[in-house]
Amino acid sequence: VNVVEIENLSKYYENGNVKALDGINLTIEEGEFVAIMGPSGSGKSTLLNMIGSLDRSDNGKIVVDGHDLLLEKDLSNFRSETIGFVFQLHNLLPMLSSLENIELPTYELKISSDEREKRASKLLKKVGLEDKAKFSPKKLSGGERQRIAVARALVNNPSIILADEPTGSLDSDNSQKILQLLKDLHKEENITLIIITHDPNIAQQAGRIVNILDGKIANG
Ligand code: ADP
Ligand code: ADP
Repeated sequence: VNVVEIENLSKYYENGNVKALDGINLTIEEGEFVAIMGPSGSGKSTLLNMIGSLDRSDNGKIVVDGHDLLLEKDLSNFRSETIGFVFQLHNLLPMLSSLENIELPTYELKISSDEREKRASKLLKKVGLEDKAKFSPKKLSGGERQRIAVARALVNNPSIILADEPTGSLDSDNSQKILQLLKDLHKEENITLIIITHDPNIAQQAGRIVNILDGKIANG
């Protein structure tokens, strides 16, 4: 089953002078682990943002988990039910505790506060930080913050994780720990994992590497 189907997808900026994406064709199967590589400015983030429906294409077709994103009326609902995002900078809120940060995306769903806390606690344990539940992210190390960010990305049981340089601000030890966490989840829950990375050590652990160059796919 294809979880991502992209046909002839393009995105232009500056009245068409910048072709961020230029006729992308790409299919990704359910449960795949794909690494997206390419030079800075080649269109990697634009592509990931399209798959996550954070940005709209100018033309082409994009179907994610059965939703045609150009026709989908409720994109924010699609997003909260289907996609977990992890960014290079963790984007955690410093005034909330670790546990509360993990709970945040669940406010998009109609679930009870008991269920919220249950899910968040389970994930906090999963990422090995159950003893830091009440800590502000300010009190955590970079690696720990990113583990909280991964837990937050998972709290709505997404079918796809989109990670834009999730290890970009970590040393190699912590990078591998975050990747291992993502790989475990990918394997255990059959979550499709799509990661942008500049790190060859990360990319070589993926099932497939997609290279982007000047808004085009440079390999199969
Ligand atoms: P990458 O993630 O590979 O570094 P991006 O997808 O961020 O590349 O950017 C692709 C191209 O589109 C670049 O030339 C970038 O400057 C341009 N771009 C991205 N977002 C915008 C925007 N909001 N407005 C104008 N140009 C943009
Ligand atoms: P990356 O780390 O993927 O290379 P960038 O630094 O290219 O990210 O882009 C960071 C953000 O800035 C993105 O949201 C992108 O859409 C936006 N952006 C990139 N290039 C431009 C641009 N030329 N004009 C306006 N926004 C841009």
